[in-house]
Amino acid sequence: MKAPAFDYVRAASAAEACALLARLGPDARLLAGGQSLLPAMNLRLASPSVLIDIGRIAGLDGIEVRGNTLHIGALVRHETLLRSAAVASHVPLLTEAMRHVAHPAIRSRGTIGGNLAHADPASELPACMLALNAAIEATSFSGTRTIAAGDFFTGLFQTALEPDEMLTGIQIPLPAAGFFFQEIARRSGDYAIVGLAASGGRLAFFSVADRPVLFQASEALDLDPPADLQATAAMRLHLAGVLRRRALTALGLQP
Ligand SMILES: Cc1cc2nc3c(=O)[nH]c(=O)nc-3n(C[C@H](O)[C@H](O)[C@H](O)COP(=O)(O)OP(=O)(O)OC[C@H]3O[C@@H](n4cnc5c(N)ncnc54)[C@H](O)[C@@H]3O)c2cc1C
Repeated sequence: MKAPAFDYVRAASAAEACALLARLGPDARLLAGGQSLLPAMNLRLASPSVLIDIGRIAGLDGIEVRGNTLHIGALVRHETLLRSAAVASHVPLLTEAMRHVAHPAIRSRGTIGGNLAHADPASELPACMLALNAAIEATSFSGTRTIAAGDFFTGLFQTALEPDEMLTGIQIPLPAAGFFFQEIARRSGDYAIVGLAASGGRLAFFSVADRPVLFQASEALDLDPPADLQATAAMRLHLAGVLRRRALTALGLQP
């Protein structure tokens, strides 16, 4: 299928994108890498009347350590994140997780901002943000606020972003503790059936609910996962328990 007709406008700055969002209203959508939005439009699951292309806004594609925080611009592409030496040395959980995100063609276009704003519950990066206790920068015409990752993912493909807000960056406190990342998927590059991203004692599961779910290492799993064509709820619960045991062993936190 082809996407329904839409208008297209390219924003030159975050301020312009936010002004356009405010002016054009909820029928307008930001276009970053297009790797989730365009397939959804082609399948007629989304039909925005206007696309606001933010892909060429300068200054939102940096990765930088400032003090004890890693700053990542919203337009950093998945492949850049995967290959970043700064990310590998300071937040290796992200490097490991990125190996499991889609395929090279998609990684060369998809952005971290688009991925987090899309809020797919089976996606690796939202769970990493929870495990890493990241803060997400949301910018609107009236300024920028930060939202804790724990408050950002509010439901199935839902976030705390207001309709006139754009995700402009991510701040990750440099983790001191060890990390663990594993996912169980049918094929390499597929979305996970169940996955776990852990930083120290913070265990964030994905593909087990309508959003990523955080547990402390000491907590028992309390999950009611969905069933679908890939797995029953009982299978997901079992796999989450397996990943939890593996993580606790790997992190020296003994189950
Ligand atoms: C075949 C295939 C396999 C994939 N496999 C995986 C996988 O295994 N794991 C995984 O995590 N992802 C996977 N993806 C999705 C991919 O990672 C996307 O790149 C990502 O989810 C969306 O990023 P994007 O930049 O392409 O966003 P877009 O598609 O441009 O936008 C997605 C949504 O986010 C909004 N948006 C974009 N940028 C912003 C912003 N800065 N602020 C506010 N809203 C914004 C858009 O309006 C839209 O609603 C896959 C995609 C495909 C096509």
